[in-house]
Amino acid sequence: MSDFHIHDVTIIGGGPAGLYTAFYCGMRALDTHIIEAQPDLGGKIHAYPEKIVWDVGGLPPSSGKQLMDQLVAQAETFHPAITTNEKIIHVEKDETGLFRLEAETGGIYYSRAVIIAVGHGILHAQKLDIEGAEKFELSNLHYTVQQLERFRDQKVMISGGGNSAVDWANALCPIASEVTVVHRRDEFGGHERHVQEMKESEVNVQTPFALSGLHGNDEGTAIERVLCTNLETNESMEKEVDAVIVNHGFQMEFELLENLQLQTEENKILVNEQMRTNIEGLFAAGDITNHQGKVHLIAGAFVEGASAANSVKQFLEPGAGAKAMVSSHNERFAEKNQEIQKNLLSKQL
Ligand SMILES: Cc1cc2nc3c(=O)[nH]c(=O)nc-3n(C[C@H](O)[C@H](O)[C@H](O)COP(=O)(O)OP(=O)(O)OC[C@H]3O[C@@H](n4cnc5c(N)ncnc54)[C@H](O)[C@@H]3O)c2cc1C
Repeated sequence: MSDFHIHDVTIIGGGPAGLYTAFYCGMRALDTHIIEAQPDLGGKIHAYPEKIVWDVGGLPPSSGKQLMDQLVAQAETFHPAITTNEKIIHVEKDETGLFRLEAETGGIYYSRAVIIAVGHGILHAQKLDIEGAEKFELSNLHYTVQQLERFRDQKVMISGGGNSAVDWANALCPIASEVTVVHRRDEFGGHERHVQEMKESEVNVQTPFALSGLHGNDEGTAIERVLCTNLETNESMEKEVDAVIVNHGFQMEFELLENLQLQTEENKILVNEQMRTNIEGLFAAGDITNHQGKVHLIAGAFVEGASAANSVKQFLEPGAGAKAMVSSHNERFAEKNQEIQKNLLSKQL
């Protein structure tokens, strides 16, 4: 898909940095476009939707999923254009200073300024290396746990020994009817306390085992049984399952837009304190940046997003103020505030 409308600013990447930046660009009345390579916004938080995040200022402990939902809702406040499933592979600036962005699909987009918020790249779960496994992804082969409840009273097989595999086993133990974990090694990743908890629970831990076969039902639509092989003795065991969860890690697909000749250090874009890169009109925020005061937290990405939005505003309108009016006194929220205050009042009555 192409879009020949020229936006004030295009944000490449719809993770926490891109989403908060889009909100703040709205506070600066910038015509904003977010382009995200994945089908869903949220970035790396998709790797930990059920984990509880404590260190985002002012938020009560929230699951990754809640945090993503709230970030997306906040990003939509000023109705930016949002394009998903579109991986940007090429950005160039023409002689008039206009940026032309090209996607892998052939889609072309134009923008007066660009903010790169691509994090560490595009996250892909390491897939199971068994022929035909992909056809079960629509039914009962999972690479992440989005909702523990969907496994209630099921026989669940977890393959992997990382942090998430251990956490999922512990979380599913009281929900599923049976949880089996197969792992190639005797040692598990993750917190010692969590590994201990798993080993002392009713989780059936099998090492050194690897998933070696999947047997579908008669229709071939869902996995009914799995074959696991002992890597020392080569003996196999077969188990009936309702669901298989694979946690073999993630791969990051990362290509820094090389044609741009950005100044980088260890695959991070060097920015100054205003999130400016060495290319005029091109800014960056979030995990992709490097600077002296770098804070590797979602909270750090938010600060960088606000700075990048302010810098874009001043780049496009050199007379504009250095920052937006704080939200509590910002006229852009006047109408929305009336509605919120009316709702609060009706709850108090
Ligand atoms: C397991 C785990 C737990 C964590 N827990 C916490 C925590 O408790 N607290 C905390 O503060 N931080 C935590 N973090 C770190 C936090 O998730 C990151 O700092 C944050 O996600 C960075 O946001 P970002 O938007 O810069 O990058 P990302 O979240 O990586 O988002 C980048 C987005 O850009 C997209 N993208 C990449 N390339 C392209 C392209 N070419 N075109 C279009 N789109 C593209 C990607 O698909 C992705 O959606 C954790 C990280 C992990 C891995």
